[in-house]
Amino acid sequence: MPEPCPICAKHRGEGPLVSPVVWADDHVVVTHRPEPDLLGYLFVEPRRHVGGLADLAESEALGIARAVWVAARALRAELDVESVHTFVAGRSAARVHFHQHVFVRHRGTPAGLGWLDVDWAGAPHGDPAALCGRLAPYFAA
Ligand SMILES: [Zn+2]
Repeated sequence: MPEPCPICAKHRGEGPLVSPVVWADDHVVVTHRPEPDLLGYLFVEPRRHVGGLADLAESEALGIARAVWVAARALRAELDVESVHTFVAGRSAARVHFHQHVFVRHRGTPAGLGWLDVDWAGAPHGDPAALCGRLAPYFAA
């Protein structure tokens, strides 16, 4: 029996990856990374259990593309950011379920930190659920 998918469980509100939901529709779920209250790190995922980018249906791919675009614009509007980054790696424990990372580099991030170093001493922390409430209206069609 295959291991249960942690991202499918998250979409049902169960398991170790449960996190605040920014927005969702029939095809796409956007959540905020729950720990460690680090603001501005989102995951864009198909609702359906799909392994990789090439496995997405066209409607899912278009929905994810729009959600990534909206997420980047919303994060830039709501946080004091230097830039917004996104990637698909497919190497994590949840690699069986496609997920795209969308996250900010906060203004003031030390220049020597790499683009993936999002948690540093001066990084803004706060309530991800409150930020989700501010980001959600940007996803309205
Ligand atoms: Zn899944």
